[in-house]
Amino acid sequence: MRFDDQRLRLLEELKASGIKDTAVLSAFSLIPREDYVLPEYKEYAYRNRPLPINQGQTISQPSMIAIMMSELNLSPQDIVLEIGTGSGYQTALLASIVKEVCTVELHDSLSLNAQKILKAAGFKNIFFRIGDGWAGWEKAYPAYKEFDKIIVSAAAEEVPPRLCDQLAEGGIMVVPVGGSLSQVLHIIVREKDMLKVRQDYPCTFVPLVKKI
Ligand code: SAH
Repeated sequence: MRFDDQRLRLLEELKASGIKDTAVLSAFSLIPREDYVLPEYKEYAYRNRPLPINQGQTISQPSMIAIMMSELNLSPQDIVLEIGTGSGYQTALLASIVKEVCTVELHDSLSLNAQKILKAAGFKNIFFRIGDGWAGWEKAYPAYKEFDKIIVSAAAEEVPPRLCDQLAEGGIMVVPVGGSLSQVLHIIVREKDMLKVRQDYPCTFVPLVKKI
């Protein structure tokens, strides 16, 4: 089956699984996942599962990305911080909806590879930082201090405190929190000085490496 048809089939799967956010569904219909997977996995690009990328990491499972993006309630004026650029696939999905995406990746080779693909795809609203995501957006351009939305694509042992500091008033953060085998997605909303935390959806991500 052609990739375009496979993409439509994945879209139907996402709808059937309960994804309703039209911006998220439209992003999935636009972004070719086959461009972000390793050549040897292209034929599996539209399976609803994570796939290996370099450096022992994975491109996230489409349904999990869709859940996280739906929880963020994304809008075209949002400035979004993404931790764990990885393949760049989720970065592209986000950047097709929001105003700007600032994305942080620990492995320089993964970031540089994603930068190449995303630039070739024509995105001009993505900013990259190579470094430790526990620190969030630090010593990076543009010099944003806080973000409307934050999405963490790797499993944290605890909610990263410095990411909470970088969440704007009314902002939403999604982050998988737990041990190395399984985690629970935390959905965090900042209301003035308070953080409201809801725990939902069991999930399994590669670890958010702790460097600080
Ligand atoms: N959304 C990406 C997910 C990649 S997997 C995709 O679909 O391709 C998670 C990524 O987080 C990996 O690329 C890993 O290298 C990165 N990562 C792990 N710990 C990190 C840290 N402390 N700071 C920044 N990135 C980190």
